Amino acid sequence: MRYLDEFQDRTLAQKIVTKIVQMTDRPLCFMEVCGTHTVAIFRSGIRHLLPEMLTLLSGPGCPVCVTSQKDIDKAIALATEPGVILVTYGDMLKVPGTRSSLQQERARGADIRVVYSVSDALQIAADNPAKMIVFLGVGFETTVPNAALSVLEAQKRKIKNYLVLSIHKLIGPPLRALLEAGEVQLNGFILPGHVSTIIGARPYEFIASDYNVSGVITGFEPLDILQAIYMLVQQVRDGSSKIEIQYRRAVSWEGNRVAQMVIDEVFEPADATWRGLGVIPQSGLRLREKFAAFDADHVFAVETDFSREPAGCRCGEILRGVEIPSRCSLFATVCTPEQPVGPCMVSSEGTCSTYYQYARTQV
Ligand code: SF4
Repeated sequence: MRYLDEFQDRTLAQKIVTKIVQMTDRPLCFMEVCGTHTVAIFRSGIRHLLPEMLTLLSGPGCPVCVTSQKDIDKAIALATEPGVILVTYGDMLKVPGTRSSLQQERARGADIRVVYSVSDALQIAADNPAKMIVFLGVGFETTVPNAALSVLEAQKRKIKNYLVLSIHKLIGPPLRALLEAGEVQLNGFILPGHVSTIIGARPYEFIASDYNVSGVITGFEPLDILQAIYMLVQQVRDGSSKIEIQYRRAVSWEGNRVAQMVIDEVFEPADATWRGLGVIPQSGLRLREKFAAFDADHVFAVETDFSREPAGCRCGEILRGVEIPSRCSLFATVCTPEQPVGPCMVSSEGTCSTYYQYARTQV
């Protein structure tokens, strides 16, 4: 297949669905790790085509959703420091912290700006030499290379008022944590395409070798996802557990070496706190010591001892796949995309907002 419409071909999709239905002869549970997959699965109606015995769960792959309350509170605290301009991507603005949100602080006068790329953040720093610009770096390995490049660029251009608050996350450690916890019995993972273009397929091999669970890296078109589900079902039927790449047009086993080197030059793995999963060793990225001058955590020390998650919000359980949004008592009543209580209702890729948009009355 070469053209976009070929990845949405109904006849071909129906053929794959028929095969999946024929081959599913036992209860199966697959987790789509990535929020973009969750949205694509709902939007294309894939859930309604699958056999009842096949369950799809959403996992911890939305970077906004997995950000801990402490990290959100830290970003809010930094945004209110005198002389600071906090720069971030749009979704982060509405995430409720313990006492307020970036959006509320902006309404109260804090200088908080939304950017579409990290190079815009660097430009804001260059244009405002009397201010300290803090870029709130959120996301998995997909977004990290650009954040790393921004630090190298700031160093090269001798921009001294540019800091990164790194709450970047790595995709492998939470999957290991989920498998280790064993709260949900998974037969396979639908693995994220975007992140995998950077890291390649190798870092997922532990899923099959250590836990006997299957994994297929896939793209975001309906036929990509259906083919990945078919490949997972086939693995279970064959009694095999391996990592396969469906998204071969973008993902290799080794990934993007140049991007990996840029990440490695600027960042190093560090323990990170995840919503719903707690502290996972070596699951985040912090700036290396030699870039301490660009590290917001090094330059500022902010207090977040008051952090606590919103009462009644079940984002943590939803991110672990042990609950679904419609079983949260706040879903679609107290908690809506306009008035989100938890981060899973904020991001367009959050499980709660996806259920709200596509399946409010069906699940
Ligand atoms: S519906 Fe709202 S309160 Fe409930 S888990 Fe989702 S985001 Fe949290």
